[in-house]
Amino acid sequence: MSMTQPILVTGGAGYIGSHTCVALIEAGYAPLVLDNLCNSSVESLARVQRITGVRPGWIEGDIRDAALLEQVLAEHRPRAVIHFAGLKAVGESVQEPLAYYDNNVGGTTILLQAMQRAGLRNIIFSSSATVYGDPATVPIREDFPRSATNPYGRSKLIIEDILDDLQRADPAWRIARLRYFNPVGAHPSGLIGEDPRGIPNNLMPYITQVAVGRLPALQVFGGDWPTPDGTGVRDYIHVMDLAEGHVAALAYLLEAGAGMFTVNLGTGQGVSVLQMVQAFERTSGHQVPYRVVERRAGDIAACWADPARARRLLHWQARRDLDTICADAWRWQQANPRGYA
Ligand code: NAD
Ligand code: UDP
Repeated sequence: MSMTQPILVTGGAGYIGSHTCVALIEAGYAPLVLDNLCNSSVESLARVQRITGVRPGWIEGDIRDAALLEQVLAEHRPRAVIHFAGLKAVGESVQEPLAYYDNNVGGTTILLQAMQRAGLRNIIFSSSATVYGDPATVPIREDFPRSATNPYGRSKLIIEDILDDLQRADPAWRIARLRYFNPVGAHPSGLIGEDPRGIPNNLMPYITQVAVGRLPALQVFGGDWPTPDGTGVRDYIHVMDLAEGHVAALAYLLEAGAGMFTVNLGTGQGVSVLQMVQAFERTSGHQVPYRVVERRAGDIAACWADPARARRLLHWQARRDLDTICADAWRWQQANPRGYA
């Protein structure tokens, strides 16, 4: 295998994918992005080029297009696939479950079939801490029971199981299932970051849009959770730490030989909504007006990772702190108040 063989990055124009392209290039890999741009802009890849000096390979297309995949795999002979492509809005998944099963489960199945036909058996899959449902205790280890409370989460559970079945049926597959906690922040250049369509669902982009004046105030979903300050607690991981976690997982996957591994990518630290607001106000110097409202349906009190397995297996751990997360998110928001538009 030569180093010039690319790494196919499905969904690589998106939030986590674009940051992972930067980390891949910095580690000497050649990303080849396949994205249908349903939730992203190709401008993100022009920005990746401005950061790294290298333009990622680019194919506009859909992972459900079997003929396109066959052609791409034959022509470019990638060493591995990092599979980010999918839909990720929990609320939308409740309204439109079939779109989620079609894109996430159907799309992944078509991708895996194309890989199998091409003799390519190395894949890193974007799973999520949502597969732990409402955990009985924190921190969460990889061997905790899994459950789903919405179609998005169920699509991740199903794909995890498909990968497990596939690896049993053909032990030559090398499979990484990476369970992300809450990805936030942006590249320190301020050139790439999260660019949600419409009003953000997630806490961090909501906070930055309030601070920049696009939204009037943050609604804090519940002040009566069984947590130290009554607000929800999560494990917020800087997106560049997450990106570097993929590079570590790729190196391990390519070196360690056949098999499947599952790791949490989180910091191991729980941060409440109010702690996040305070950290953001401190680092940005901007006020974030908020009011405490009802709990959001489907939310849980607390969720954070036990990151020990990733440290042991991948020799990787998150190293950017909450102030860095807030400063980088704010730099991106200020420089791009309307995102890539
Ligand atoms: P994103 O929406 O920014 O990126 C996903 C990309 O996939 C987008 O560029 C979109 O255009 C593309 N895409 C979607 N369907 C496609 C298809 N059928 N064919 C080709 N391209 C397609 O989201 P993200 O935050 O970067 O998430 C990446 C992955 O990580 C997703 O699988 C998501 O479920 C998972 N994940 C995200 C989070 C999070 O909070 N952001 C947490 C856990 C897991
Ligand atoms: N949250 C909030 N207001 C918002 C968005 C989120 O109070 O506008 C809270 C939410 O209840 C949870 C935390 O922030 O406790 C993280 O929510 P997010 O949607 O970012 O991620 P989740 O962990 O739900 O996937």
